[in-house]
Amino acid sequence: MTESSAEDIGADLRERVRLGMPDVIARLCDLVRIPSVSWDEFDREPVRRSAEAVAGLLEATGLFDSIEVRQYDDVEGRPGQPAVLAHRPPLEGRPTVLLYAHHDVQPPGDPADWRTPAFEPTVIGDRLYGRGASDDKSGVLVHIGALEALRDVLESRGEPLGVGISVLVEGEEENGSRSFDRFLEHHRRELEADYIIVADSDNVSAETPSLTVALRGNVAFNLRIRTLEHASHSGMYGGLAPDAMLAAVRLLNTLWDEHGAVAVPGLRSYDGEVPEADAEELAAEAGVLGGRLIGTGPLNSRMWFQPSITVTGIDAPDVANASNTLLPEVRVRISGRVAPGQTGESYAEALLAHLRANAPFGARLEVESMDIGEPFLVDPDAEGVARMTRAMGEAWGRPAGRTGIGGSIPMISSLVETFPAAQVLVTGVEDPGTLAHSPNESQHLGVLRRAIESEARFLAGLLAAGADGE
Ligand SMILES: [Zn+2]
Repeated sequence: MTESSAEDIGADLRERVRLGMPDVIARLCDLVRIPSVSWDEFDREPVRRSAEAVAGLLEATGLFDSIEVRQYDDVEGRPGQPAVLAHRPPLEGRPTVLLYAHHDVQPPGDPADWRTPAFEPTVIGDRLYGRGASDDKSGVLVHIGALEALRDVLESRGEPLGVGISVLVEGEEENGSRSFDRFLEHHRRELEADYIIVADSDNVSAETPSLTVALRGNVAFNLRIRTLEHASHSGMYGGLAPDAMLAAVRLLNTLWDEHGAVAVPGLRSYDGEVPEADAEELAAEAGVLGGRLIGTGPLNSRMWFQPSITVTGIDAPDVANASNTLLPEVRVRISGRVAPGQTGESYAEALLAHLRANAPFGARLEVESMDIGEPFLVDPDAEGVARMTRAMGEAWGRPAGRTGIGGSIPMISSLVETFPAAQVLVTGVEDPGTLAHSPNESQHLGVLRRAIESEARFLAGLLAAGADGE
């Protein structure tokens, strides 16, 4: 393809994406109506239904030689959730692109916190509200919308879609991608690609696109803290026998310093440049009461490049059932973020060593359900990075920023490990107003359209490229 035809294909793609938006939004709404929560405690049937629905959408594009819904057990024998895999081989000597998104969602939380029902998609102004409306059912529609636009524009020009395309829509990203490695083992051939686009991240704002170049990893586990063989009356032994809550509170308190920054030896930070950020704005976005942020160092580095530790759950009697007893046992869920540059395993070792060294009053610790996801850092000079940055700039009319995000996408590290030569490009449909994982999650529909156009332009640019990217 010549330079000038690449330019007007951009205009054609823009127009086709614009025309396709009502249909894209209607299909997104259909997916949001399926409560595909992948957590163990939730019904698996909707996740299966969601996978089938995604397979149907891929089928309808008419672009794929094979489309399968597949499910594997994880290494511990726990059943995984169904993923959808579609594949179309490249023409001789052309590159292949793997497009990733996930169709499962986080639990909705308390319905009282939602202004509109979590699984009843509702458009208000520029935004579509609902659990998964953004994370990551919009990611699914980005791939489908981009492929449809490219298919139609090429067809109108009588040109072939020569690049190989695989689409992988996972069903348990929100549950730690536990069976993903097994999935990779079985489908290595269809997943092998020159470029991997992971549409599951964030943009700086609804007006400015971003390419995510660093992701923190995560380490999460349950910690059982036991101090007594059995419960006993707090009026008798209180003040003498150590209860588990006392031990838990004192132990957990050793994890942070007075600024709220982690205080665990051996947890490392990554030394990278970050753009300036406004403390007041961030505090407002995060809903911080009183506006006081925690941690030390540049604000974005605290979120992208420094480790963090959060206690996300606690099992103890609830207040309504509290009796006057000393608790023998407390269980907490600890969720840590790993800075790029440190392995999840070395983070976990350092954290567990710290907990054991600081367990007070002879408390016994037991660790359960350890999940580890590795951090990710891209090569900023990779050709695909420049190519995607350009496509985003054209689609959004604004230069794309390079950012990190504080969250983790565990399957990325598996992909990087399995396909070291592939260029991984982490794009996104979210913006600061999205509130992914929170009540009132929403997708900005202008961002969705620009994300579809960016990906369509990126793919169109590859039509002129060989398997080595040029
Ligand atoms: Zn996601």
